[in-house]
Amino acid sequence: MIPRTIFQPEHEQFRDAVRRFVEREITPHHERWEDEGVVDRELWKKAGEAGLLCPNLPEEYGGYGADYLYNVIIIEELARAGATGPAFSVHSDMVATYIFAFGSEEQKQRWLPKMASGEVIGALGLTEPSAGSDLKGIRTRAIREGDEYVINGQKVYISNGQLCGLIVLACKTDPDAGARGMSFILVETDRAGFTRGRNLKKIGLKAQDTSELFFDNVRVPVSNLLGSEGNAFGMAMSKLAEERLSIAVSAITVVENALRWTIDYTKQRKAFGKTISDFQNTRFKLAELHGEALAKRVFVDRCIEQHLKKELSPVEAAAAKMLCTELQCRAVDECLQFFGGYGYMLEYPIARAYIDSRIRRIAGGASEVMREIIGRDLFKD
Ligand SMILES: Cc1cc2nc3c(=O)[nH]c(=O)nc-3n(C[C@H](O)[C@H](O)[C@H](O)COP(=O)(O)OP(=O)(O)OC[C@H]3O[C@@H](n4cnc5c(N)ncnc54)[C@H](O)[C@@H]3O)c2cc1C
Repeated sequence: MIPRTIFQPEHEQFRDAVRRFVEREITPHHERWEDEGVVDRELWKKAGEAGLLCPNLPEEYGGYGADYLYNVIIIEELARAGATGPAFSVHSDMVATYIFAFGSEEQKQRWLPKMASGEVIGALGLTEPSAGSDLKGIRTRAIREGDEYVINGQKVYISNGQLCGLIVLACKTDPDAGARGMSFILVETDRAGFTRGRNLKKIGLKAQDTSELFFDNVRVPVSNLLGSEGNAFGMAMSKLAEERLSIAVSAITVVENALRWTIDYTKQRKAFGKTISDFQNTRFKLAELHGEALAKRVFVDRCIEQHLKKELSPVEAAAAKMLCTELQCRAVDECLQFFGGYGYMLEYPIARAYIDSRIRRIAGGASEVMREIIGRDLFKD
Protein backbone atom coordinates (compact mmCIF):
# COMPACT_ATOMS: atom_id res chain seq x y z
CA MET A 1 0.00 0.00 0.00
CA ILE A 2 1.26 3.50 -0.77
CA PRO A 3 1.77 5.17 2.64
CA ARG A 4 -1.16 7.34 3.60
CA THR A 5 -0.12 10.86 4.53
CA ILE A 6 -3.38 12.43 5.65
CA PHE A 7 -3.32 11.32 9.29
CA GLN A 8 -1.41 12.79 12.25
CA PRO A 9 -0.38 10.84 15.40
CA GLU A 10 -3.52 12.01 17.24
CA HIS A 11 -5.66 10.52 14.49
CA GLU A 12 -3.85 7.19 14.85
CA GLN A 13 -4.46 7.26 18.62
CA PHE A 14 -8.14 7.82 17.91
CA ARG A 15 -8.07 4.94 15.43
CA ASP A 16 -6.69 2.61 18.11
CA ALA A 17 -9.46 3.65 20.48
CA VAL A 18 -12.16 3.17 17.83
CA ARG A 19 -10.74 -0.22 16.87
CA ARG A 20 -10.78 -1.36 20.49
CA PHE A 21 -14.35 -0.10 20.88
CA VAL A 22 -15.47 -2.00 17.78
CA GLU A 23 -13.73 -5.19 18.95
CA ARG A 24 -15.26 -4.94 22.41
CA GLU A 25 -18.74 -3.47 21.88
CA ILE A 26 -19.71 -4.34 18.30
CA THR A 27 -18.06 -7.44 16.84
CA PRO A 28 -19.14 -9.88 19.59
CA HIS A 29 -22.80 -8.85 19.19
CA HIS A 30 -23.09 -8.27 15.47
CA GLU A 31 -24.40 -11.69 14.51
CA ARG A 32 -27.16 -11.47 17.12
CA TRP A 33 -28.07 -8.00 15.84
CA GLU A 34 -28.26 -9.40 12.31
CA ASP A 35 -30.76 -11.98 13.56
CA GLU A 36 -32.71 -9.32 15.45
CA GLY A 37 -32.62 -6.78 12.60
CA VAL A 38 -31.40 -3.98 14.82
CA VAL A 39 -28.45 -3.13 17.08
CA ASP A 40 -28.89 -2.77 20.85
CA ARG A 41 -30.12 0.69 21.81
CA GLU A 42 -27.47 0.68 24.52
CA LEU A 43 -24.70 0.61 21.89
CA TRP A 44 -25.50 4.20 20.93
CA LYS A 45 -25.01 5.44 24.48
CA LYS A 46 -21.70 3.58 24.72
CA ALA A 47 -20.62 4.99 21.35
CA GLY A 48 -21.51 8.47 22.57
CA GLU A 49 -19.47 8.01 25.74
CA ALA A 50 -16.52 6.76 23.68
CA GLY A 51 -16.66 9.79 21.37
CA LEU A 52 -17.78 7.92 18.25
CA LEU A 53 -20.83 10.07 17.61
CA CYS A 54 -20.68 13.53 16.07
CA PRO A 55 -16.96 14.12 16.75
CA ASN A 56 -17.02 17.19 14.48
CA LEU A 57 -19.42 19.18 16.57
CA PRO A 58 -17.90 21.98 18.62
CA GLU A 59 -17.57 21.26 22.34
CA GLU A 60 -20.47 23.55 23.21
CA TYR A 61 -22.73 21.12 21.32
CA GLY A 62 -21.26 17.96 22.80
CA GLY A 63 -18.59 17.10 20.23
CA TYR A 64 -14.90 17.77 20.41
CA GLY A 65 -14.43 19.99 17.40
CA ALA A 66 -12.58 17.28 15.49
CA ASP A 67 -11.80 17.44 11.79
CA TYR A 68 -13.39 15.21 9.15
CA LEU A 69 -10.51 12.72 9.46
CA TYR A 70 -12.06 11.53 12.72
CA ASN A 71 -15.26 10.66 10.83
CA VAL A 72 -13.12 8.93 8.22
CA ILE A 73 -11.51 6.81 10.92
CA ILE A 74 -14.87 5.76 12.39
CA ILE A 75 -16.17 4.85 8.93
CA GLU A 76 -12.98 2.89 8.10
CA GLU A 77 -12.89 0.99 11.37
CA LEU A 78 -16.54 -0.04 11.11
CA ALA A 79 -15.98 -1.13 7.50
CA ARG A 80 -12.79 -2.97 8.43
CA ALA A 81 -14.74 -5.00 11.00
CA GLY A 82 -17.66 -5.61 8.63
CA ALA A 83 -19.80 -3.80 11.19
CA THR A 84 -22.61 -2.67 8.92
CA GLY A 85 -25.27 -2.58 11.66
CA PRO A 86 -24.60 0.70 13.46
CA ALA A 87 -25.65 3.55 11.15
CA PHE A 88 -23.52 6.08 13.02
CA SER A 89 -22.68 7.86 9.79
CA VAL A 90 -26.32 8.74 9.01
CA HIS A 91 -26.67 10.10 12.54
CA SER A 92 -23.39 12.03 12.76
CA ASP A 93 -22.46 12.89 9.19
CA MET A 94 -25.93 13.67 7.92
CA VAL A 95 -28.56 14.43 10.57
CA ALA A 96 -26.30 16.23 13.07
CA THR A 97 -24.42 17.92 10.24
CA TYR A 98 -27.66 19.31 8.80
CA ILE A 99 -28.81 20.60 12.19
CA PHE A 100 -25.40 22.13 12.90
CA ALA A 101 -25.16 23.75 9.46
CA PHE A 102 -28.71 25.01 9.09
CA GLY A 103 -30.39 24.88 12.52
CA SER A 104 -31.32 27.78 14.77
CA GLU A 105 -29.31 28.25 17.96
CA GLU A 106 -32.25 26.86 19.93
CA GLN A 107 -32.42 23.75 17.72
CA LYS A 108 -28.66 23.17 18.00
CA GLN A 109 -28.65 23.47 21.77
CA ARG A 110 -31.70 21.29 22.11
CA TRP A 111 -30.64 18.41 19.87
CA LEU A 112 -26.92 18.26 19.21
CA PRO A 113 -25.64 17.46 22.74
CA LYS A 114 -28.20 14.66 22.96
CA MET A 115 -27.11 13.34 19.59
CA ALA A 116 -23.42 13.44 20.57
CA SER A 117 -24.18 11.47 23.74
CA GLY A 118 -26.37 8.92 21.95
CA GLU A 119 -29.41 9.88 24.00
CA VAL A 120 -31.21 10.79 20.78
CA ILE A 121 -30.69 8.91 17.52
CA GLY A 122 -31.19 10.78 14.28
CA ALA A 123 -32.72 9.68 10.97
CA LEU A 124 -32.91 11.37 7.61
CA GLY A 125 -36.30 11.03 5.92
CA LEU A 126 -36.05 11.74 2.22
CA THR A 127 -37.11 8.67 0.26
CA GLU A 128 -40.74 7.72 -0.31
CA PRO A 129 -42.34 4.76 -2.07
CA SER A 130 -42.83 6.87 -5.20
CA ALA A 131 -39.66 9.02 -5.10
CA GLY A 132 -36.01 8.34 -4.31
CA SER A 133 -33.47 9.52 -6.89
CA ASP A 134 -35.87 12.23 -8.02
CA LEU A 135 -36.52 13.94 -4.71
CA LYS A 136 -38.71 16.58 -6.27
CA GLY A 137 -41.36 13.89 -6.55
CA ILE A 138 -41.94 13.45 -2.81
CA ARG A 139 -45.54 13.71 -1.66
CA THR A 140 -45.25 14.16 2.11
CA ARG A 141 -46.97 17.47 2.83
CA ALA A 142 -46.48 19.96 5.64
CA ILE A 143 -49.29 22.48 5.69
CA ARG A 144 -48.96 25.50 7.89
CA GLU A 145 -51.83 26.11 10.31
CA GLY A 146 -51.14 29.04 12.62
CA ASP A 147 -47.98 28.31 14.56
CA GLU A 148 -47.85 24.67 13.52
CA TYR A 149 -47.13 22.48 10.53
CA VAL A 150 -49.49 19.57 9.98
CA ILE A 151 -47.60 16.72 8.32
CA ASN A 152 -49.10 13.89 6.29
CA GLY A 153 -47.26 11.30 4.26
CA GLN A 154 -44.91 8.38 4.45
CA LYS A 155 -41.23 7.53 4.06
CA VAL A 156 -39.51 4.28 3.21
CA TYR A 157 -36.05 2.69 3.59
CA ILE A 158 -35.15 5.03 6.45
CA SER A 159 -31.95 4.03 8.26
CA ASN A 160 -32.28 4.11 12.07
CA GLY A 161 -36.03 4.01 11.47
CA GLN A 162 -36.83 1.83 14.48
CA LEU A 163 -34.48 3.49 16.95
CA CYS A 164 -34.59 7.14 15.96
CA GLY A 165 -35.94 9.83 18.25
CA LEU A 166 -35.60 12.67 15.77
CA ILE A 167 -36.15 12.83 12.02
CA VAL A 168 -34.93 15.46 9.63
CA LEU A 169 -37.92 15.11 7.36
CA ALA A 170 -38.18 16.31 3.78
CA CYS A 171 -41.69 17.67 3.16
CA LYS A 172 -43.43 19.65 0.49
CA THR A 173 -44.42 23.01 1.95
CA ASP A 174 -45.34 24.39 -1.47
CA PRO A 175 -46.30 21.54 -3.80
CA ASP A 176 -46.49 23.80 -6.86
CA ALA A 177 -42.93 25.09 -6.53
CA GLY A 178 -41.03 21.90 -7.53
CA ALA A 179 -37.61 21.62 -5.88
CA ARG A 180 -38.10 25.07 -4.32
CA GLY A 181 -41.21 23.91 -2.51
CA MET A 182 -39.39 21.39 -0.33
CA SER A 183 -38.45 22.04 3.30
CA PHE A 184 -36.75 20.13 6.10
CA ILE A 185 -38.75 19.86 9.31
CA LEU A 186 -37.50 18.34 12.55
CA VAL A 187 -40.00 15.75 13.75
CA GLU A 188 -39.72 14.18 17.19
CA THR A 189 -40.92 10.59 17.15
CA ASP A 190 -43.10 11.01 20.24
CA ARG A 191 -45.47 13.33 18.36
CA ALA A 192 -49.09 12.13 18.04
CA GLY A 193 -49.80 10.73 14.58
CA PHE A 194 -46.28 9.41 13.99
CA THR A 195 -45.91 5.65 13.62
CA ARG A 196 -43.07 3.39 12.65
CA GLY A 197 -43.85 0.81 10.03
CA ARG A 198 -42.07 -2.45 9.32
CA ASN A 199 -38.39 -2.96 9.98
CA LEU A 200 -37.76 -4.00 6.38
CA LYS A 201 -36.19 -7.37 5.53
CA LYS A 202 -33.16 -6.77 3.34
CA ILE A 203 -30.67 -8.88 1.42
CA GLY A 204 -27.83 -7.30 3.41
CA LEU A 205 -27.15 -4.77 6.18
CA LYS A 206 -29.25 -7.13 8.27
CA ALA A 207 -28.36 -5.56 11.61
CA GLN A 208 -29.46 -2.13 10.44
CA ASP A 209 -33.02 -1.00 11.13
CA THR A 210 -34.27 0.27 7.78
CA SER A 211 -37.91 1.18 8.08
CA GLU A 212 -41.10 2.67 6.84
CA LEU A 213 -42.31 5.75 8.68
CA PHE A 214 -45.85 7.15 8.66
CA PHE A 215 -47.11 10.66 9.39
CA ASP A 216 -50.82 11.09 9.97
CA ASN A 217 -51.72 14.69 10.89
CA VAL A 218 -48.51 15.07 12.88
CA ARG A 219 -48.40 18.56 14.34
CA VAL A 220 -45.08 20.27 15.04
CA PRO A 221 -44.42 23.92 15.92
CA VAL A 222 -43.12 26.10 13.09
CA SER A 223 -39.96 26.53 15.16
CA ASN A 224 -39.14 22.94 14.05
CA LEU A 225 -38.48 24.18 10.51
CA LEU A 226 -34.80 23.67 9.66
CA GLY A 227 -33.36 26.71 7.91
CA SER A 228 -35.90 28.51 5.79
CA GLU A 229 -38.95 27.28 3.90
CA GLY A 230 -38.31 25.95 0.41
CA ASN A 231 -34.59 25.38 0.91
CA ALA A 232 -34.37 21.64 1.58
CA PHE A 233 -33.15 20.82 -1.90
CA GLY A 234 -30.31 23.32 -1.68
CA MET A 235 -29.37 22.13 1.80
CA ALA A 236 -29.30 18.50 0.70
CA MET A 237 -27.19 19.37 -2.37
CA SER A 238 -24.67 21.29 -0.28
CA LYS A 239 -24.03 18.26 1.94
CA LEU A 240 -24.07 15.54 -0.69
CA ALA A 241 -20.35 15.76 -1.51
CA GLU A 242 -19.42 14.78 2.05
CA GLU A 243 -22.02 12.01 2.15
CA ARG A 244 -20.73 10.55 -1.11
CA LEU A 245 -17.11 10.83 -0.06
CA SER A 246 -17.96 8.98 3.16
CA ILE A 247 -19.53 6.17 1.13
CA ALA A 248 -16.38 6.00 -1.02
CA VAL A 249 -14.21 5.79 2.12
CA SER A 250 -16.22 2.83 3.36
CA ALA A 251 -16.22 1.17 -0.07
CA ILE A 252 -12.47 1.27 -0.61
CA THR A 253 -11.89 -0.09 2.89
CA VAL A 254 -14.14 -3.06 2.12
CA VAL A 255 -12.15 -3.71 -1.07
CA GLU A 256 -8.89 -3.81 0.89
CA ASN A 257 -10.49 -6.16 3.42
CA ALA A 258 -11.77 -8.49 0.73
CA LEU A 259 -8.33 -8.69 -0.83
CA ARG A 260 -6.66 -9.42 2.51
CA TRP A 261 -9.12 -12.20 3.38
CA THR A 262 -8.78 -13.71 -0.07
CA ILE A 263 -4.99 -13.71 -0.09
CA ASP A 264 -4.98 -15.39 3.35
CA TYR A 265 -7.57 -17.96 2.33
CA THR A 266 -6.10 -18.89 -1.05
CA LYS A 267 -2.67 -19.42 0.49
CA GLN A 268 -4.15 -22.18 2.68
CA ARG A 269 -6.80 -23.84 0.55
CA LYS A 270 -5.64 -26.66 -1.73
CA ALA A 271 -7.05 -28.09 -4.96
CA PHE A 272 -5.40 -30.35 -7.58
CA GLY A 273 -2.29 -30.63 -5.43
CA LYS A 274 -1.65 -26.88 -5.21
CA THR A 275 -2.87 -23.98 -3.17
CA ILE A 276 -5.54 -21.84 -4.86
CA SER A 277 -3.00 -18.99 -4.83
CA ASP A 278 -0.68 -21.10 -6.99
CA PHE A 279 -3.10 -20.81 -9.91
CA GLN A 280 -2.09 -17.99 -12.19
CA ASN A 281 -5.75 -17.00 -12.54
CA THR A 282 -5.89 -16.27 -8.81
CA ARG A 283 -2.74 -14.17 -8.79
CA PHE A 284 -3.72 -12.27 -11.93
CA LYS A 285 -7.23 -11.48 -10.73
CA LEU A 286 -6.01 -10.39 -7.31
CA ALA A 287 -3.20 -8.37 -8.87
CA GLU A 288 -5.70 -6.47 -10.99
CA LEU A 289 -7.95 -5.79 -8.03
CA HIS A 290 -4.98 -4.76 -5.91
CA GLY A 291 -3.85 -2.28 -8.58
CA GLU A 292 -7.32 -0.78 -8.77
CA ALA A 293 -7.59 -0.59 -4.99
CA LEU A 294 -4.24 1.21 -4.77
CA ALA A 295 -5.29 3.80 -7.32
CA LYS A 296 -8.69 4.38 -5.77
CA ARG A 297 -7.31 4.62 -2.24
CA VAL A 298 -4.94 7.36 -3.36
CA PHE A 299 -7.78 9.12 -5.16
CA VAL A 300 -10.04 8.91 -2.10
CA ASP A 301 -7.31 10.28 0.16
CA ARG A 302 -6.82 13.20 -2.23
CA CYS A 303 -10.59 13.81 -2.17
CA ILE A 304 -10.44 13.80 1.65
CA GLU A 305 -7.67 16.43 1.51
CA GLN A 306 -9.77 18.51 -0.85
CA HIS A 307 -12.77 18.15 1.46
CA LEU A 308 -10.70 19.25 4.47
CA LYS A 309 -9.86 22.40 2.50
CA LYS A 310 -13.56 22.73 1.59
CA GLU A 311 -12.58 22.38 -2.06
CA LEU A 312 -14.10 19.01 -2.97
CA SER A 313 -16.56 19.49 -5.80
CA PRO A 314 -19.82 17.52 -6.07
CA VAL A 315 -18.51 16.10 -9.35
CA GLU A 316 -15.31 14.75 -7.77
CA ALA A 317 -17.33 13.31 -4.88
CA ALA A 318 -19.71 11.67 -7.36
CA ALA A 319 -16.71 10.17 -9.19
CA ALA A 320 -15.28 8.83 -5.92
CA LYS A 321 -18.60 7.26 -4.96
CA MET A 322 -19.19 5.78 -8.39
CA LEU A 323 -15.68 4.34 -8.82
CA CYS A 324 -15.28 2.96 -5.31
CA THR A 325 -18.72 1.40 -4.95
CA GLU A 326 -18.55 -0.16 -8.40
CA LEU A 327 -15.14 -1.59 -7.49
CA GLN A 328 -16.49 -2.74 -4.11
CA CYS A 329 -19.25 -4.80 -5.70
CA ARG A 330 -16.96 -6.29 -8.35
CA ALA A 331 -14.14 -6.99 -5.88
CA VAL A 332 -16.27 -8.80 -3.30
CA ASP A 333 -17.85 -10.84 -6.09
CA GLU A 334 -14.52 -11.82 -7.64
CA CYS A 335 -12.93 -12.48 -4.24
CA LEU A 336 -15.89 -14.58 -3.10
CA GLN A 337 -15.34 -16.82 -6.11
CA PHE A 338 -11.96 -17.93 -4.69
CA PHE A 339 -13.64 -19.15 -1.50
CA GLY A 340 -15.78 -21.63 -3.44
CA GLY A 341 -18.73 -22.88 -1.40
CA TYR A 342 -17.34 -21.38 1.80
CA GLY A 343 -17.76 -17.98 0.18
CA TYR A 344 -21.50 -18.56 0.14
CA MET A 345 -21.64 -19.23 3.89
CA LEU A 346 -22.52 -16.27 6.07
CA GLU A 347 -20.01 -17.31 8.71
CA TYR A 348 -17.34 -16.12 6.26
CA PRO A 349 -16.84 -12.35 6.24
CA ILE A 350 -16.55 -12.36 2.45
CA ALA A 351 -20.14 -13.66 2.20
CA ARG A 352 -21.38 -10.89 4.46
CA ALA A 353 -19.38 -8.29 2.54
CA TYR A 354 -21.00 -9.58 -0.66
CA ILE A 355 -24.58 -9.07 0.54
CA ASP A 356 -23.77 -5.83 2.37
CA SER A 357 -22.05 -4.24 -0.61
CA ARG A 358 -24.85 -4.25 -3.14
CA ILE A 359 -26.73 -1.31 -1.67
CA ARG A 360 -23.71 0.96 -2.10
CA ARG A 361 -24.39 1.37 -5.83
CA ILE A 362 -27.95 2.48 -5.04
CA ALA A 363 -28.24 4.47 -1.79
CA GLY A 364 -26.72 7.91 -1.43
CA GLY A 365 -27.34 8.37 -5.16
CA ALA A 366 -27.39 5.50 -7.65
CA SER A 367 -24.33 4.97 -9.86
CA GLU A 368 -26.38 6.15 -12.85
CA VAL A 369 -27.16 9.41 -11.04
CA MET A 370 -23.42 9.82 -10.34
CA ARG A 371 -22.76 9.36 -14.06
CA GLU A 372 -25.39 11.97 -14.83
CA ILE A 373 -23.72 14.46 -12.49
CA ILE A 374 -20.29 13.84 -13.99
CA GLY A 375 -21.58 13.75 -17.59
CA ARG A 376 -23.55 16.96 -17.19
CA ASP A 377 -20.41 18.67 -15.92
CA LEU A 378 -18.33 17.39 -18.84
CA PHE A 379 -20.74 18.87 -21.36
CA LYS A 380 -21.61 22.12 -19.67
CA ASP A 381 -20.79 25.26 -21.62
C1 LIG B 1 -30.57 -0.05 3.08
C2 LIG B 1 -31.06 1.28 2.62
C3 LIG B 1 -30.90 2.39 3.44
C4 LIG B 1 -31.40 3.63 3.05
N1 LIG B 1 -31.34 4.69 3.92
C5 LIG B 1 -32.03 5.84 3.60
C6 LIG B 1 -32.18 6.88 4.58
O1 LIG B 1 -31.68 6.79 5.72
N2 LIG B 1 -32.90 7.97 4.23
C7 LIG B 1 -33.48 8.11 2.99
O2 LIG B 1 -34.13 9.12 2.75
N3 LIG B 1 -33.34 7.14 2.05
C8 LIG B 1 -32.65 6.01 2.34
N4 LIG B 1 -32.53 5.01 1.41
C9 LIG B 1 -33.11 5.20 0.07
C10 LIG B 1 -32.08 5.37 -1.02
O3 LIG B 1 -31.40 6.60 -0.89
C11 LIG B 1 -32.83 5.23 -2.35
O4 LIG B 1 -33.19 3.86 -2.48
C12 LIG B 1 -32.01 5.69 -3.53
O5 LIG B 1 -31.84 7.08 -3.50
C13 LIG B 1 -32.67 5.31 -4.87
O6 LIG B 1 -34.00 5.73 -4.89
P1 LIG B 1 -35.15 4.69 -5.30
O7 LIG B 1 -34.99 3.47 -4.47
O8 LIG B 1 -36.46 5.38 -5.24
O9 LIG B 1 -34.84 4.30 -6.78
P2 LIG B 1 -35.36 5.06 -8.09
O10 LIG B 1 -35.23 6.51 -7.94
O11 LIG B 1 -36.67 4.50 -8.46
O12 LIG B 1 -34.27 4.58 -9.15
C14 LIG B 1 -34.21 3.20 -9.57
C15 LIG B 1 -33.07 3.05 -10.53
O13 LIG B 1 -33.31 3.82 -11.70
C16 LIG B 1 -32.11 4.29 -12.24
N5 LIG B 1 -32.11 5.76 -12.31
C17 LIG B 1 -32.66 6.61 -11.43
N6 LIG B 1 -32.41 7.89 -11.81
C18 LIG B 1 -31.69 7.83 -12.95
C19 LIG B 1 -31.11 8.80 -13.82
N7 LIG B 1 -31.23 10.12 -13.57
N8 LIG B 1 -30.42 8.36 -14.90
C20 LIG B 1 -30.29 7.05 -15.16
N9 LIG B 1 -30.81 6.09 -14.36
C21 LIG B 1 -31.49 6.46 -13.27
C22 LIG B 1 -30.98 3.78 -11.33
O14 LIG B 1 -30.49 2.56 -11.82
C23 LIG B 1 -31.71 3.56 -10.01
O15 LIG B 1 -31.06 2.61 -9.20
C24 LIG B 1 -32.02 3.76 1.77
C25 LIG B 1 -32.15 2.66 0.94
C26 LIG B 1 -31.71 1.43 1.36
C27 LIG B 1 -31.97 0.24 0.47
